[in-house]
Amino acid sequence: MRVNVIGAGYVGLVTGAGLASLGDDVCIVERLEERRATVRSGRAPFHEPGLDELLSRVVGEGRLTVVGEIEHAPPADVWFIAVGTPSVDDRIDLGAVLAATDEIGRAVAATSTRTVVVVRSTVVPGTTDGPVRDRLAAAVGDALDRRVGLCAQPEFLRESTALADFVRPDRIVVGGREAWACEIVAGLVARLGGTVIHTTATNAEMMKYASNALLATLVSFANEIAAVCEHTPGADAHDVLGSVCLDRRWQVDGRTPDLVSYLRAGAGFGGSCLPKDVEALVSTARDRGVEPWLLHGVLQRNRSRPPALVELCRAVLGGLEGRTIAVLGLSFKPGSDDLRRSPAVELVQLLVAAGVVVRAHDPLAADAAAAVVPAAVLRFDDLADCVTGCDAAVVATAWPEYREADWSALAARMVGRDVIDGRDALRGIALPAALRRHTIGRVADPQPLEQGAAR
Ligand code: NAD
Repeated sequence: MRVNVIGAGYVGLVTGAGLASLGDDVCIVERLEERRATVRSGRAPFHEPGLDELLSRVVGEGRLTVVGEIEHAPPADVWFIAVGTPSVDDRIDLGAVLAATDEIGRAVAATSTRTVVVVRSTVVPGTTDGPVRDRLAAAVGDALDRRVGLCAQPEFLRESTALADFVRPDRIVVGGREAWACEIVAGLVARLGGTVIHTTATNAEMMKYASNALLATLVSFANEIAAVCEHTPGADAHDVLGSVCLDRRWQVDGRTPDLVSYLRAGAGFGGSCLPKDVEALVSTARDRGVEPWLLHGVLQRNRSRPPALVELCRAVLGGLEGRTIAVLGLSFKPGSDDLRRSPAVELVQLLVAAGVVVRAHDPLAADAAAAVVPAAVLRFDDLADCVTGCDAAVVATAWPEYREADWSALAARMVGRDVIDGRDALRGIALPAALRRHTIGRVADPQPLEQGAAR
């Protein structure tokens, strides 16, 4: 099939490269010159395991090409809209989706072949059959339905495992009015398996939001339990949640499913999807006369977590002004260099505002973080350099590097002895006696200044 994909972000590139690897002729349309050049050279503009290798192959074989404007893209059987839907005042900005729809409409109107337009970006329920359909109809007239079809086909990929998710999809949701168009899209994307759900476009859009809202709710549930434990001497949220997860109903064939990893206390959820999607769902609910008490609470609890971690640092160190703290991890989750809405970045900003000298480490995102952390923050991709001279280290993102680190060597570089584990990432690690681990999810265990190593 001939496939055009608008947007060379995570969704667009994984979709495009994945389909090209299955033999389709894919053209990516990307406005940003720098991104185009990177993709043309067979690399991804962001870190995603396996994607560079796949892109290099499909670009080399001529299966994936890149252009800058929709009007320069070749005719296609299917057009995927995979542009960003950023959050503005807790609502999504549909500007890029609608602009792409207009341009695709003009391109499709100039042809006479059967074409399907697919909204793969995350949009609030009612968007595809509402404004997108209206804009497409304005461009192609009565060809819509007969020759031009419109579907919503939300993407469920997870950054850092996006290609694995493409190869082994758990569900493929295709929603739309034109059955013939939905068949084409399902045939295109379901070749690798996965349960196909044929539904309405609005239902498809709602499925995506419900899915992310549940994941966010699990995280905030765990953090709400943690918040209570943090004010309950003797309680430890990690023990508590660990026992909850041993309930048979949370086990599958004697195994703990991935989903349970969301039931962990920490610094909160971030990234380009969960916060934005829950905010958009909350706003949409209110627009429709429904007060989303639960999801509002999910967001409130999430917003409370970076400040709670700052308070733990304050309690442990007996004050923050003038202290030097190493923040370990900047990306929103391990395995990704994505800094969008990262709780670790917010932690850095809060610590700087409290007068802390912050040194920050990330295995992948230290350079890119220059754009999102205050200029005074020194950034390192070497862990030992980062902790040198610090009063404390805070684990803000659960990179495996921190579990695997030589903490004796790190302790020798630090001035203080406190390691504050904001992700409970070091549980079970034997830290050297020179270090004391503090974790979120239980009452802070401050160390009187006079007992600390040279501070
Ligand atoms: P992104 O912001 O990383 O990439 C979007 C790209 O589209 C940008 O490079 C931008 O320059 C380009 N673009 C915008 N308008 C264009 C136009 N008219 N012509 C050509 N290029 C254009 O976005 P992303 O993270 O891939 O997300 C895309 C959508 O998918 C969003 O709605 C997001 O919520 C959703 N989504 C993202 C993920 C994820 O993990 N990132 C997962 C599921 C769904």
